[in-house]
Amino acid sequence: MTNQSLKQLSDNHILPTYSRYPIAFVKGQGCRLWDADGKEYIDFASGIGVTSIGHGHPTWAKAIADQAGELSHVSNLYYTAPAAKLALRLTELTDMAGVFFANSGAEANEGAIKVARKYGNGRSTIVTLEGSFHGRTITTLAATGQDKFHQHFHPLTQGFRHVPPGDMAALEAQGDDICALFIEPIQGEGGVMPLDKEYVQAAAELCHKRGWLLLIDEVQTGIGRTGKWFGYQHFGVKPDVVSFAKGIAGGLPLGGFIVSEKLRNVLAPGDHATTYGGNAVCCAAALTVLGILEPVISQVEEKGEYIRTKIQEMNLPIVGEIRGRGLMIGIKIKDYPPAAINAKLLEAGLAALTAGADILRFLPPLIIEQSDIDAGLKILHNILRLAT
Ligand SMILES: *Cc1c(COP(=O)(O)O)cnc(C)c1O
Repeated sequence: MTNQSLKQLSDNHILPTYSRYPIAFVKGQGCRLWDADGKEYIDFASGIGVTSIGHGHPTWAKAIADQAGELSHVSNLYYTAPAAKLALRLTELTDMAGVFFANSGAEANEGAIKVARKYGNGRSTIVTLEGSFHGRTITTLAATGQDKFHQHFHPLTQGFRHVPPGDMAALEAQGDDICALFIEPIQGEGGVMPLDKEYVQAAAELCHKRGWLLLIDEVQTGIGRTGKWFGYQHFGVKPDVVSFAKGIAGGLPLGGFIVSEKLRNVLAPGDHATTYGGNAVCCAAALTVLGILEPVISQVEEKGEYIRTKIQEMNLPIVGEIRGRGLMIGIKIKDYPPAAINAKLLEAGLAALTAGADILRFLPPLIIEQSDIDAGLKILHNILRLAT
C-alpha cells in the first residue's frame, strides 16, 4: 500500500480527531523511519517523546516477544514478576515508596489526582499552572491550564485553579481549600516552557508549609528526557507524587504514578484500579528501556546543548528563543506558522513536532547519535533558510 492509499483507508474509517500529515509509516529502525512509498526520514519526534530507545531495538523487541510467549496479562488480581521488578526500579530511581501502573499519561494523572483528593480529606482544590497540559480526559482537561482544550467539553470536573507560572504571590494567595500543587517541570504541549528553579523550590517549600501535596507531571519530561531520570531532579525538590508515561515502555502503552512514603497507604484496596495497567508485556518492555537508557542518560544534556548551539549558530532571523533542557527542545519560529515549517521538514525527510502557538519542538530518541543529529540539523537549516 502507498501513503495515499493508507491515508484514504484511514480517513474512511478512523475518526478525524487529529490533523495528520499525509504520510503513513511502515518501518522504523533506530532514529530512522520509512514511509509506505519507501522514503526515509530522520526521527526528531519519537512518537511524541515515546520511542526514547529508537525504533525496533532488538533487546526490547526480544523482551516483548519472550514475555508475550510466556505470560501477557493476568490483571491486577495477581502478582507478576515484570511489574514487581519495574516498580522496584522506579522507586529506586526516585527514592520514593510505591508505584501504581496505568496505561497512559492522562490515566496516570487521574490517579495522582485521586491520591491528592483522598489525602486532602475535604480540601479538594488542586492548583495547576496556566499553559499546562495534563491530558484529555474530562478531569485532566480541567487540570490543563489552556482554555483552547476546554471548548465544547463543559462542564469539566470541579476543583482546579490555574495560576501563572513563576508567580509566587498567586500561590501564596490560595486559601485553605487546597490539597495539592500540580506542575510540569518543563511545560511540553504548552510550548517547551521550563519553570525557574527558584520558583519550583519556593513553591515546594510553600507546599510543605501549607500541607499541600506537590504533584509532578513527568509524562513528557520523565525517563531521561531532560538529562536526569525525572525533570524535578534538576530542582533539588522532593515531590509527593510523580506521574510518568511517554518514555517508559519504548512505544507500548504504560503509565503510572509513584508516591512518597507518607502516601503509600492513601489509596486502599478498592479505591483505584485498571484492567490493563502494569501488564506483564508492557512492564517487561519498560525494564529493558530503563536498562538501555541507563548508560545513555548522562549524555542527554550534552546532546541537547549541541543541538541548541548549532541552531543558534545558524543565525537565522526566523529563529527566536531556543528553549528546553536535554533532548526536549523548543525553537520559537518568528512570523511563520510552525506547522507549515514542520510540514516542509517532513517533506525534506525530518519528522519533528510543534508545541504551543509558535514553537517547533524536537524530542529525538535519547539514543540518537551524532551523525543522525547532524543529518537532521542539515535538513532543518535548509528549510529554515528558505522559509526566511
Ligand atoms: C502527553 C502528556 C499527557 C497525556 O498523556 P496521554 O498518554 O496522551 O494521555 C499528560 N501530561 C503531559 C505533561 C503530557 O505531555
